[in-house]
Amino acid sequence: MAWGGAPPGAPPDRVRVPLSQPSLGPSERAAIERPLESGWVVQGPEVAAFEREFAAWVGAGSAIATTSCTTALQLGAQTLGLRQGDEVVVPGFTWIASANAIEHAGGRVVFCDVSLETWNLDPRSLERALGPRTVGIVPVHLFGRLAPMEPVLALARSHGLWVLEDAACALGATRAGRHAGTFGDAGCWSFHPRKSITTGEGGMLAVAREGAEEAARSLRDHGVGGPAALRGQLPDYSRVGFNFRMTDLQAALGRAQLGRAEALIARRRLLARRYREALSEVGWLRLPSEAPDGETHGWQAFVVSVEVEPPRIDALDALTSRRDALMFALADAGVETRPGTHAPPLLSAYRGRGTTPRSLPGAAIAQGISLALPLYPELGDDAQAYVCEKVRAFAPG
Ligand SMILES: *Cc1c(COP(=O)(O)O)cnc(C)c1O
Repeated sequence: MAWGGAPPGAPPDRVRVPLSQPSLGPSERAAIERPLESGWVVQGPEVAAFEREFAAWVGAGSAIATTSCTTALQLGAQTLGLRQGDEVVVPGFTWIASANAIEHAGGRVVFCDVSLETWNLDPRSLERALGPRTVGIVPVHLFGRLAPMEPVLALARSHGLWVLEDAACALGATRAGRHAGTFGDAGCWSFHPRKSITTGEGGMLAVAREGAEEAARSLRDHGVGGPAALRGQLPDYSRVGFNFRMTDLQAALGRAQLGRAEALIARRRLLARRYREALSEVGWLRLPSEAPDGETHGWQAFVVSVEVEPPRIDALDALTSRRDALMFALADAGVETRPGTHAPPLLSAYRGRGTTPRSLPGAAIAQGISLALPLYPELGDDAQAYVCEKVRAFAPG
């Protein structure tokens, strides 16, 4: 039995359920034939079509394809006017790229705390993190659950800040029919293989601000554009830009994935519901909360936690060792899991700034107790039942 396919060299009958796996089939194979046939492999017609189709899918005016969500975030922050030393608030529990992109764009990240109920930013902590140098907020729709956009947008309005949404995990997450990534001034998505659709590596940026799109396209392409170009002369380069261009090979793949996105996300939703049904009786296990009425969850990941008692920061080590024990027990049974994500302020890259587990207890606890269970469209019913059986068999110490 090897539902996920055994890794090279593994004993052939050992069960292995991977954490995640991209869903690639005949339509993806056929799609990448197009640039291979035409010989046009850099940014070209496939990227232009992918941008149009993606923008229509999420309901954005337009979209700009990039090499990753990290570079989309960096481009977005620069396009919204981030300057050297400006402060931007980022939740303390997220993939480290949400913070790195801001720092690479010249900003300084200030972290706010998160809620263990939703894994998303806590609006009260966000408000406390705002200061005289704050220029923007990066709400993250973690694991496909929409961040609390109403308080985020209200704070942004009252303090004159921009909002750059990190919707890396949130394709398919909506509220009243509106997609994550289209609430603020700009939004970014990821097409890394662990996300709901993939281009290998890749990202997308949608900017809602008038006039910002031209700047983002220019910055993506070495800063091309400007007055001379308009006069039909040699192209001018009016900004110090980047090469953040997606290739047509990636975009062709992305178009095939986007064509299946509805079905891929529906399958994730079904699997998430099955996990909830199969595991709701496990007293020590906290399941991720469902999206409230009027919202849909994108279910990029199904992130649980081991909670024998309410988690307190002074018990962090004990909490973490229980989570790790579950992770090791599942690994022994061939089930791959991973901590939900990181608390970047507690990682070495940001530790010098004075954050301690006690100053951001939600983020510290989330990093210590969260665990992502296998979730991907091709996870079969038997494999999922096996994962649930192994979780139920665990006895937390
Ligand atoms: C995956 C992820 C990113 C980065 O996406 P890449 O496309 O890998 O650069 C950023 N933020 C969050 C929350 C993510 O999960």
